[in-house]
Amino acid sequence: MKKLEQLYEGKAKKVYKTDNEDLLWVEYKDDATAFNGTKKGTIVGKGVLNNLISAHFFQMLAEKGVPNHFVELVNEQEQLVKALDIIQVEIIVRNLAAGSMAKRLGMEEGMDLGGPVVDYCYKSDELGDPLINDDHIRALNLALPEQIQTIREIALKVNSILTNYLADKGIILVDYKLEFGFHKGEVILGDEISPDTCRFWDSETREKLDKDRFRRDLGGVDEAYKEIYRRLTGKEVKL
Ligand code: 5GP
Repeated sequence: MKKLEQLYEGKAKKVYKTDNEDLLWVEYKDDATAFNGTKKGTIVGKGVLNNLISAHFFQMLAEKGVPNHFVELVNEQEQLVKALDIIQVEIIVRNLAAGSMAKRLGMEEGMDLGGPVVDYCYKSDELGDPLINDDHIRALNLALPEQIQTIREIALKVNSILTNYLADKGIILVDYKLEFGFHKGEVILGDEISPDTCRFWDSETREKLDKDRFRRDLGGVDEAYKEIYRRLTGKEVKL
């Protein structure tokens, strides 16, 4: 497999073409951004950790019957994925109140929601990824109602798989963001699942083990990402 020209550089990843038009080569970056790119920094080792952590989750989800874009790791910081036509909707699944939802609805962070809450956001940096509903998705022609229904069902299946899997590792899955796309006419899970895109709390202490440490200047960002990798794999990463 050959890495060809760069197609796209996002905030956390670079995407390259390959000599197979169905596959893309993704390089995870150490760059960290928050609040729609207004806060910037570097987390040394984040590219390696998120690449390995995301690969771990996607492999596990594929084994449990969740179709997704992951193909294989190329090296510690890069992976091959299936090329997707990405649906411009972020799917957020929440188990406990936190972040923007806690703020918007005046909820105390950590409040139990009594079952998962699914939010949709329009993927648009210019608009700041605004919250939208099923009707907005239809009006904006982002996906068909039956496609959103399928996505919601997959997102909730991912929730029960990940919640149980992480509970065994002493981690509470507070919330996370998923992205989906079309591959050969089928809707499959894409993007990444990592401490950049999820809120992970230690089950005992409720210590934050995710990007909120960067967003909120709590320190110990790289240590938190390493701790997630350690709990998932039982291994240390050499950086
Ligand atoms: P919130 O709505 O509180 O900002 O985010 C809810 C969850 O989705 C968090 O786990 C957060 O990391 C993830 N999330 C939402 N939007 C984005 C985004 O644009 N980028 C990333 N990396 N994560 C997001």
